[in-house]
Parts: sequence; structure tokens; C-alpha cells
Amino acid sequence: MSTTKYIFVTGGVSSSLGKGIIAASLAKLLQARGYKVTIQKLDPYINVDPGTLNPYEHGECYVTDDGAETDLDLGHYERFLNVSTSQANNVTTGKIYQSVIQKERRGEFLGKTVQVIPHITNEIKERVQILGKSGEFDIVITEIGGTVGDIESLPYIEAVRQLKWELGDDNALVIHLTLVPYLKAAGELKTKPTQHSVKTLMESGIRADILVCRTEHHLSDDLRRKLALFCNVQKEAVIESIDASTIYDVPNLMLEEGLDAIVLNKLNLSNTTSPNLDRWNQFLTRHKNPKSTVNIGLIGKYVELQDSYKSILESFIHAGAANEVKVNVISIHSEYINKDNIAEKFSKLNAVLVAPGFGERGIEGKVEAVRYAREQEIPFLGICLGMQMAVIEYARNVLGLKKANSTEMNADTPFPVIDLMEDQKSITNKGGTMRLGAWKCELQKDSLVDSVYGSTHIEERHRHRYEYNNTFRDQLEEAGMKSTGINQETNLVEIVEIPSHPWFVGVQYHPEYKSTVASPHPLFVAFVKAALDHSEK
Ligand code: GLN
Repeated sequence: MSTTKYIFVTGGVSSSLGKGIIAASLAKLLQARGYKVTIQKLDPYINVDPGTLNPYEHGECYVTDDGAETDLDLGHYERFLNVSTSQANNVTTGKIYQSVIQKERRGEFLGKTVQVIPHITNEIKERVQILGKSGEFDIVITEIGGTVGDIESLPYIEAVRQLKWELGDDNALVIHLTLVPYLKAAGELKTKPTQHSVKTLMESGIRADILVCRTEHHLSDDLRRKLALFCNVQKEAVIESIDASTIYDVPNLMLEEGLDAIVLNKLNLSNTTSPNLDRWNQFLTRHKNPKSTVNIGLIGKYVELQDSYKSILESFIHAGAANEVKVNVISIHSEYINKDNIAEKFSKLNAVLVAPGFGERGIEGKVEAVRYAREQEIPFLGICLGMQMAVIEYARNVLGLKKANSTEMNADTPFPVIDLMEDQKSITNKGGTMRLGAWKCELQKDSLVDSVYGSTHIEERHRHRYEYNNTFRDQLEEAGMKSTGINQETNLVEIVEIPSHPWFVGVQYHPEYKSTVASPHPLFVAFVKAALDHSEK
């Protein structure tokens, strides 16, 4: 019998209450007490994965080592826990139905009518228990996306009900995250929305064991008692989750509220050791006491929605703390950058990051941003599309190939310096068909990236279709843009740099997916350091 314990996190009243951060914070505390923990996200939408979603719809698409395109909450899980997630950590309704329908086509249901209960719920239960059965984890925390009462979350809630019944109260518990709003006119915190959402959960047969209440004001003793009474939980199980200035404060706030202690208690697990958060708190101290500030421009076309660049923004927080500087990220919309306004727009920048992206919109502004950073010797980091733009800019303005482009933007360019590889040309399906996940890369000795990583073998995560075109490599190298990172098996160029520039690096991969609190990404740390040097000049 499996000894893994399961914790389910549901949400009520409103979306965007931060279930992912609560799950990650609880996981952090349990990990800091010596437990092996992982977190899984169940998303009720019908897309098989968020890879086909526009960032405006759902924020950034996060990528795991094993090439899963996932919800951005998995990024938080990795950043908090410093443990890699995988395909199994993000399940969508699309994945569930795809798998059940494939089984039906193979005849695996032996003539039975295939139904939501039990077939869909069984598939959900299996997906939840895969992580537990791997034997790698003591505790699996499963976050259910959406809000209770949503039509599309019903099968998930039913699966949780069944699992809780099958596993028993010692082995599974439900944490319900709700909102306790403050009514200014009444001068009061209101519990009714929480009562109603707990009631909705009850109608599906689930009693919440713990309530985590998002609030802008502290919960009084009376209010906690009232919530406990009407929501059928112990008073100690009413946990306040007050607004914090940074998500990285939440583990300590949950520790003060005793969330981890009550969880361990209910799951019959030992809580004799107190959590060791030394490293975490060292990071927090550095993060909160910067010695100086740098301005870094983030050049992208999804800048209106900050979630689109979540991992990049978090990587700057980790790298800022490592350098004891505050990174002031100035988002600049690439669509509105041109030759005439760039000097003014970039006048305060100590470094320029050109962001990943897809499609033609905003491309010329990105090329212009690269040109300006290169000519003005401003530290530059190009990520994925940003690296591709750096190659295009160099080809156009240094090699004089004025019409150089990526075939993604112009299929008929005479100088396709960025192009599709042969094996991509025959692919017609969009979902899950990019170059995805971890790929090895060999760094050139004595290059800038070699000194940054302190090793010549690295592995980084990818998510793109187009590649550096090796036909132009000799020309680019001779003109001063060096290829300093190569994937040996495919000979694909993963990194370019310009040694004559103070700090100019373009990477085809996404370093931001691997930066965590415990190990800030070396490339971001070095880039922020370069910005600091620039600001001191
Ligand atoms: N659109 C580019 C490609 O597919 C870059 C993708 C990205 O920036 N993630 O190659």
C-alpha cells in the first residue's frame, strides 16, 4: 500500500487568489521539514496543454525538462522547491479526454458505455496517483484550477471526493482557498462568500479540512471562530493569508499561521522538527535590502500582461538578490519602438533584454532594440526570438544583408539567417511539435558564457521551431558574432555572442525556466552584474 499523503487545494469565491503560491508555500514548509514533496496542477480547460494558448489568454507557457508545455504555476513550484517537475505535474481536461477516447478506440472498455463517472474520474484519479506511486514523494499536493461551482471543474471535484474516501482522512486532506473581502462602506470583513463556497463544496460531498482565507486585513479571533463554526472546520484550521509585498514572503506567513503544522497533524505525520528556512531567509534579506538599483528594459509584445513574462521577471528577482541590487524592470512594447524614439525610450536603461515571442508583430522594434544596445554598448540578453533578432540585426547592419530575416516572418527572404530545420518542415500540427525541453549544449572555452556558467557542458530548456541557419555561420563569425554554444548531436547553434561588446549574449533556449530561489540562473546573475557595471560607469 502506498504511504504517500495527498493534499488537494481547491479555490472558491474568485479566481486569481493565488492557489499556486499557497500550494508552493506549503510545499516549501513541508520540504524544509525534510519531507519529499511535489505539486501537481489540474487544469479544467479542454486544450491538451497551454502550448497553443496566446499569452494574453493564460500568461506564460512554462516548459519542463521533459518537454511538457505547462501552466505557469509549475514555474512557481520549481522556483520555490528547486525540484524539477515533469509531464505528470500538469494535467488538463484535454489530456484526460484524449487519453480516455484513445482507450475507447483501442477497445479497452470492453463494450461498456464510456461516461464521465467512472471513466473520466478514474482517469483523473490515476493521474493524481501517478506521482504518489513513483515512490519519489512523501506528499503530493494537487492544485485544482478554477473555482468550485464551475461546470468544468465538476469531474475533478468528484475525483477528489472519491480519492478522499478511498484513501481515508489520515492520507488525504482538502485545503480550500477563499476570499474574505473587506467592505469599505461597512468597515468590515465579510465571511458570507466563504460560507457559500464551502457550501458549494459540501454539495459535491467534500468537507474542507482547512480554510485559507485571502484578505487585505487581519482576521480577528471572533471572525476566525465564526468562519470555523459556519464552515465546519476547527478554529486552528482557519488560516489567514494576508496580502504580501512579495510572493516569497508567503511561506513565512503560512508558517506563522501554522498551516504546515496543522497539515502534518491531520495527516498523522511527525512535526517534531521545525522547518529549516535559513537559505530561503538569506535570499529574502538580500532581496529586501538592495544596495543599489539597475534599470533593465524588457522588450516584448505581450508587456500589457505581466504574467506573459512571469519566469523572466522572477529570474530578475533571484539574480537581483544574488547581486544585492534591485532590478527595476522597465517593460517596453516592441511595436512602438522606432529609430526616432529609441534613444529617448532607452535613455535610462542599464541593460536590454529582448523577450521570446511568436509571429511578425513588433519584430522591427525588437531588431531596432538590438541595434541600439549593440551600438551603444549596453549589456544585451536575447532569449529565443530575442536571440534570433540579434542574428538578424547583425546580418542586416554589419554584414549588409539588408533583407535578412527569419522565414517565420518572411518566407521569401533572400537571406534566411533564421530558418526551419528539415525535420520541422513536414510538421503540420501546432500542438507539442516545437523543439521542446532540455537539450545539451557545449560551450566554447574562454567564451563569455563559459565564464558565466563555469562549465562547458550545460543543459537548457527549449521552446521554438526556428533555428540559426548554419549556412550563414562563417560569414557571421568572421564579422564578429561568435557561436559559442553548440548542440553536438545536431550541430545547432544555441548561443551567439559579440566579444568586442562589453556584454552581448543571445540564447536560443530559455534560461528563465531554470532560475530558482535556491539557484538563481547564472546567466541572469551575470547579466544583472553587467547592468550594475553599466550603471556605475
Ligand atoms: N518564434 C520563434 C520560433 O518559433 C521563437 C520562439 C520563442 O521565442 N520561444 O523559433
